[in-house]
Amino acid sequence: MKRALITGITGQDASYLAEFLLNKGYKVYGTTRRSSTINNERIEHLQDKITIIQGDLLDQSSLSSALLEAEPDEVYNLAAQSFVQTSWNQPVLTGEFTALGVTRLLEAIRVVNPKIKFYQASSSEMFGKVTETPQKETTRFHPRSPYGVAKVYAHYITVNYRESFGIFACCGILFNHESPRRGIEFVTRKISRGVARISLGKQKKLELGALEPKRDWGFAGDYVEAMWLMLQQPVASDFVVATGENHSVREFLKLAFKTVGIDDWNRYIISNNPSHMRPAEVDYLIGDASRARKILGWRPKTSFKELVEMMVKADLEIEKKEK
Ligand code: NDP
Ligand code: GDP
Repeated sequence: MKRALITGITGQDASYLAEFLLNKGYKVYGTTRRSSTINNERIEHLQDKITIIQGDLLDQSSLSSALLEAEPDEVYNLAAQSFVQTSWNQPVLTGEFTALGVTRLLEAIRVVNPKIKFYQASSSEMFGKVTETPQKETTRFHPRSPYGVAKVYAHYITVNYRESFGIFACCGILFNHESPRRGIEFVTRKISRGVARISLGKQKKLELGALEPKRDWGFAGDYVEAMWLMLQQPVASDFVVATGENHSVREFLKLAFKTVGIDDWNRYIISNNPSHMRPAEVDYLIGDASRARKILGWRPKTSFKELVEMMVKADLEIEKKEK
């Protein structure tokens, strides 16, 4: 039985990846950091099937101990301070978690067992102010936030451990991927939740920032398969994972409101709210995943429309239950 360790097991992607690996017959371990309250909603349904180990990206020995306990064949590093907006308020902490944390984990692998295969969660935010469209593996990075900068460091340290020590390490450069389990601060979930609440009369307005930025939005459940496929290849390398289609925040809003039968959606929106505007914006992302299609045989299964509808319907169910 193959064994996998997923860092950031309480996060969106980890919950889908854990389900995926359990279905493949893996023994799955996940790390959580210590918290005063339990934060396991996304993996509650998997509690009896996975083993939780405490491990913090800030703490070197906790990472080595996690590897010694889990004895994994594969490590998926999904833990990070993952919210772009927060990275301007906590730039140093973002660097500690999202950048240096990866070096700590790679060092633990190098020392404990360099045969472990490693997946690093790289991000389309590394392309930032894009220099080429669509963006592919060879497109130059120009990150626009402390988060994006930290991910560039994490990306290159992973490449460097591959080149320096021969570690089987892959970076998946994933474009935005969403789901009903997405954190409520991200724009897609903020919209699906807000729209559900507005349609039920529980909320009057939805306050947002810029509506024009475009993202290549896919479904997280589809993207975790690409992570696994990367580690099953004969040679380690890096892949863009994306749908190849992009939409503006405005388009997402329009479709979300349409799902609940509201056409005059503008009256519920306050846009350009200063607290949701960013010091430097990423205006336009669209990925070219042809390398993943060719080598991994991966392609997304969920359309933009299906994604928006899935998220709004899931939030309607939640909001109907919560008084
Ligand atoms: P989430 O924010 O949902 O999950 C992040 C996880 O990291 C949580 O479990 C969190 O724990 C954990 N974490 C945060 N800080 C630490 C720390 N110091 N030590 C240990 N664990 C920590 O992210 P997603 O699931 O959406 O994303 C997974 C990865 O993919 C992240 O690295 C993200 O940056 C990257 N990515 C995501 C994209 C997306 O669109 N979703 C796009 C491209 C890359 P806790 O619950 O305690 O906060
Ligand atoms: P990101 O691509 O990782 O930054 O994902 P987000 O979901 O946080 O943001 C996607 C885009 O939506 C960015 O261009 C944001 O500026 C824009 N946006 C507009 N209003 C909001 C808002 O209220 N919250 C968030 N999170 N993003 C917003």
